[in-house]
Amino acid sequence: MTTTTDFLSHLNSSQRQAVEHFCGPLLVVAGAGSGKTRALTYRISNLILKHRVHPENILAVTFTNKAAREMKERMQKLFAEQVAVSRYGKPFEKLAAHEQTHLRSHVYKEYIKELWVGTFHSLFSRILRFDIDKYQDEKGRKWNRNFSIFDESDAQSLVKEIVTKQLNLDDKKFEPRSVRYAISNAKNQGISPQDFEREQPNYRGRVIAEVYNHYQDRLAANNALDFDDLILVPVKLFEQNEQVLGYWHNKFRHILVDEYQDTNRIQYDLIRLLATNGETRKNEWDWRNRSIFVVGDADQSIYSFRMADFTILLEFQENFGDNLPDEDTRTMVKLEENYRSRENILEAANELISNNSQRIDKVLKPTRGAGEQIYLYKAEDEIAEADFVVNQIRNLESKHPEMHWGSFAILYRTNAQSRPFEELLVRRGIPYTIVGGLKFYDRKEIKDVIAYLRAIANPADTVSLLRVINTPRRGIGKATIDNLVKASQELSLPLWEILSDETSVNTLAGRSAKGVNSFAQIIRYWQEQLDTVSPAQIVQGVLEDSNYVKDLQTQGTDESLERVANVQELYNAVLQFEEEHEDATLGSFLASTALTSDLDNLKEGQTAVSLLTLHASKGLEFPVVFLVGLEQGLFPNFRSLDDPASLEEERRLCYVGITRAQERLYISYARERRLYGSREPAIASQFLGELPKELLTSGKQTRVVSNSFAAKSRSTSTGESRSTSVGVQNWQVGDRILHKTFGIGEITHILGSGNKVSLAIAFPNLNQKKIIDPRIAQLEKV
Ligand code: ATP
Ligand code: MG
Repeated sequence: MTTTTDFLSHLNSSQRQAVEHFCGPLLVVAGAGSGKTRALTYRISNLILKHRVHPENILAVTFTNKAAREMKERMQKLFAEQVAVSRYGKPFEKLAAHEQTHLRSHVYKEYIKELWVGTFHSLFSRILRFDIDKYQDEKGRKWNRNFSIFDESDAQSLVKEIVTKQLNLDDKKFEPRSVRYAISNAKNQGISPQDFEREQPNYRGRVIAEVYNHYQDRLAANNALDFDDLILVPVKLFEQNEQVLGYWHNKFRHILVDEYQDTNRIQYDLIRLLATNGETRKNEWDWRNRSIFVVGDADQSIYSFRMADFTILLEFQENFGDNLPDEDTRTMVKLEENYRSRENILEAANELISNNSQRIDKVLKPTRGAGEQIYLYKAEDEIAEADFVVNQIRNLESKHPEMHWGSFAILYRTNAQSRPFEELLVRRGIPYTIVGGLKFYDRKEIKDVIAYLRAIANPADTVSLLRVINTPRRGIGKATIDNLVKASQELSLPLWEILSDETSVNTLAGRSAKGVNSFAQIIRYWQEQLDTVSPAQIVQGVLEDSNYVKDLQTQGTDESLERVANVQELYNAVLQFEEEHEDATLGSFLASTALTSDLDNLKEGQTAVSLLTLHASKGLEFPVVFLVGLEQGLFPNFRSLDDPASLEEERRLCYVGITRAQERLYISYARERRLYGSREPAIASQFLGELPKELLTSGKQTRVVSNSFAAKSRSTSTGESRSTSVGVQNWQVGDRILHKTFGIGEITHILGSGNKVSLAIAFPNLNQKKIIDPRIAQLEKV
């Protein structure tokens, strides 16, 4: 094995400094694309190759499992290159194929296999496999090493069972998903069932505390942990048992964390315990042969909804290196060159993020030529937007030999936005994948609603009937369902014939009969309407009658609200289908969806266009990026419009999105977007006004930049009570207005500035806020 470190020539001097630093704490802060992840990967290699650190003494935390895999692959390549020279006296690429294969597997066995690289969850569940038997919780509950990991749906079923069977409570009042959410939140803040009851002594609080208590009992009885436990239990175990902590502290002499700005307090506790053994490290001696190395960018902190807290990054030096001499130079390295993006893209990102007040200014210099201007496209609506994007992808792919489908990424704010893009990509035969998520028609809520529709269009479809007979819950138990199915098999009758006959149901279903009958009634009613009403009306009716959306809304979690958005997007899909097909029927719509979901299996080795949310795009890069749906209320999202801190997080998200692009960036928005089935005028995102005008182009098709939105302005503010003049009107927060369709409302916010003002108006009739362009909508003050 060689000690050559010529691979360090792939790094700039600051990166080298970070990589070569051996002991003690080190924080690398730098903007997007500056080579933080590369520095982290090379640092691991350097520890092994130069400092002879054993791979099993290294722990590296990545944000996703995919990132962990990629990091290992990169290291395997790097090691193979190094070893090739010392072993064979020639570079890796000059070796014969069998030598290369041999070397790769040698490197894997010798170095990569022993490395601990992964997400917090995967690494710490591994630690628990060794030591969980030494842990007991505050009530003396114990687990053994074969513990199961309950995923979210297992955890919810458990909560449901406790609510309905053990405590005999109404699961409509104590909806399992929202109870589970409350428990998870409590666990993540270290709140025990007893504390929970003390903090929320009302009836609901007491009940949830009781469910929580049983829930923990049941997890223990099943020798199971949920996702939260995978982080929490190690913290408690380390605090409880010095020997266990001592062992892992001794093992992991070098700890590395990527994307440190999205660490939460409990994850930080884990890292701190492991790195310091719970002691204060006062001097260099305390850090001999050990290090803690974290990299991050506070401007890319986008997971505050999962309790991530970027002040943990800002406090790193204080927490780990405060009393070391010469702390600034020794515990922090800044990287200032960006290697990823063309200069125009980078400058746009830098300008945008400079509008945030909660940040530390930093330098991010381009190393690549200016590149092309950023292309801005104003579409008529979301369908035209998808059409534009897919056409551009097709053109670029055919014109540029270096580009393939994998060169393109479409980034959006909410999952529901993927639908029009997916449909068009399928129609044009372009392969695509959804990164970090499911394709639209594979999402649970979409499958549920489609199952209702299939059951209505084709009652012989027993699979669909069974999928939704108790979704949302109608108190129909498994035994009842088994009874009904058995009867249909024994009588050789389709299940529907039994379900649709009240007398049979009353006989077979016992206490669940009411639920079964109400389900059958919904299906029957809409079957009767099939020939007289439109598919969209059926979808809307079924969603209402089944309480499907209402059920999700009452759960009120981020996840359930996202499902609502997806269901609403399905409704949009039906409307679109009707517009495109004069003779649309429910059957023809269902046939089209079946095709969309079927056509997409990637062939081995085939590359594909990536579709992903901005949140899932962190750390990734693509030659060509399409950032879509840049509209007020969508991105930035509605909730951030009256909350300055969330607005800054949205801006960070936009910064993440822009900085994913290497060569070209396209930004689009629609003039009108179908939301909840009705067409709403949309307003360009305020972020667009924050991008330098000279970097943008709208090509030949449209002249967006010059006409449609205000030049770069830093005065866009939200939530302030200020007045502005649009035409003759002088709008003020608090004004009551009359809108032709929506009726009386009250202005809650004035958005934008100059001649591009829009109003957020709360309409009590609709129980909803809407963003309205006062010049289009003709509002009257009342
Ligand atoms: P992010 O903040 O988005 O996670 P990052 O700081 O982790 O970005 P990397 O992904 O490590 O940045 O690097 C961005 C790109 O620049 C990668 O393609 C990487 O290979 C390349 N790169 C990094 N450092 C150098 C360098 N010294 N010379 C040339 N290319 C580099
Ligand atoms: Mg990175």
